[in-house]
Amino acid sequence: MSEELNPFEIAQKQLDAAAAIMQLEPALHELLRWPIRELHVTLPVRMDDGSTEIFHGYRVQYNDSRGPTKGGLRFHPHETIDTVRALAAWMTWKTAVMDIPLGGGKGGIICNPKVMSPGELERLSRAYIRQVGRILGEDMDVPAPDVYTTPQIMAWMMDEYAFMRGHNVPGVITGKPLPLGGSAGRGDATARGGMTCVREAAKLLGLATAGATMAIQGFGNAGQYAAILGAELLGMRIAAVSDSQGGVYNPAGLDPAALIVHKLETGSVVGFPEGDAVTNAELLELDVDVLAPAALENQITAENAARIKAKIVAELANGPTTPDADAVLYDGQHYVIPDFLCNAGGVTVSYFEQVQNAYGYYWKEAQVHELLDEKMTTAFQAVAQTADDYHIDNRMAAYIVAVGRVAEACKLRGWV
Ligand code: NAD
Repeated sequence: MSEELNPFEIAQKQLDAAAAIMQLEPALHELLRWPIRELHVTLPVRMDDGSTEIFHGYRVQYNDSRGPTKGGLRFHPHETIDTVRALAAWMTWKTAVMDIPLGGGKGGIICNPKVMSPGELERLSRAYIRQVGRILGEDMDVPAPDVYTTPQIMAWMMDEYAFMRGHNVPGVITGKPLPLGGSAGRGDATARGGMTCVREAAKLLGLATAGATMAIQGFGNAGQYAAILGAELLGMRIAAVSDSQGGVYNPAGLDPAALIVHKLETGSVVGFPEGDAVTNAELLELDVDVLAPAALENQITAENAARIKAKIVAELANGPTTPDADAVLYDGQHYVIPDFLCNAGGVTVSYFEQVQNAYGYYWKEAQVHELLDEKMTTAFQAVAQTADDYHIDNRMAAYIVAVGRVAEACKLRGWV
């Protein structure tokens, strides 16, 4: 039988495994297997050539027992409702494992932003808010950037929402540009949080990060900052990076800043002169100390898991590893830092952004870094301790910490 790669079915399967260990009562388990609500929208958008194109989008609010739902918004040609549901579920577990007072949600629009002009993207972003805005709000549901969405897109969306409400509501969306109420330190927060986890994992394993090698799949927000911060904060050599077009490999180490310039100039890391070409599939199997998948779901599967050599797998992407692959990687040779812990730095600083918007007072970058480090380290240790206590892999441990907190909130509210 071929492996199940539907992300929502994977998210449900992961929850089912945790529920079995926790002996969660059936009604609570069933409640947590499904989104509380979701909205499907159809968006007519005037294109630059005068034609009208019809786009489809979603917003899923998975669970708001611990607070307003929170989660990114993805623009992708292959977006599906099940991907959005899975990402919304993982957001619920992510805010809970970080112990921030928010629930989980996610949004998506099926589109290819690479072939759209800035004007078309702006009209699409505003059209989405005109439909979805009715279920958004700083105390209801707060979007943020994700794959192929940017601070500029967040700014247009915030502006459209302000028109709908008749006044400014900066806290309705996070990941905004700084002059519009964004937080210092949000740009690199996902990668910074991930590198904090790598630092803690290396300590636990007795590995020195200075001089250790890291391969990064995906060279966008998460991947680029992981390269910069992996080198800057942990002294790692960036042995390989890739994007949707392919990758580049040099075991002596690639220069992250030069790679970013090359990608800006050519549109890809492919062809970077100081390394050899490598495919996305080959990159995953390189002999490196740390592997950071930072692109899309289902990259490490039953098919390739046995060939992964990295000692630490730092999941910056959401859902990069399938349950069958997890079973292979839980062998004492690999230390997996599960996605909703490893990439939680982004939502944590988004939460800081919401707090600053509410107060109308803004923190210095150094304060954001310090608070993020403290939050990530505490969450990492809670997960590592639970893995030890239950003799389970880190993903199940993260589920047990997170699901326990969400379950408690649902019970206290009297939902089950
Ligand atoms: P991004 O749009 O900035 O970058 C995505 C990168 O992935 C691009 O370099 C793209 O070329 C590459 N890519 C796309 N398809 C690929 C493929 N098939 N193989 C290899 N590379 C491919 O997106 P991002 O914000 O960096 O998000 C990346 C991952 O991190 C996603 O799983 C996202 O959900 C997760 N994440 C992001 C944030 C955040 O704050 N941005 C927070 C948490 C999790």
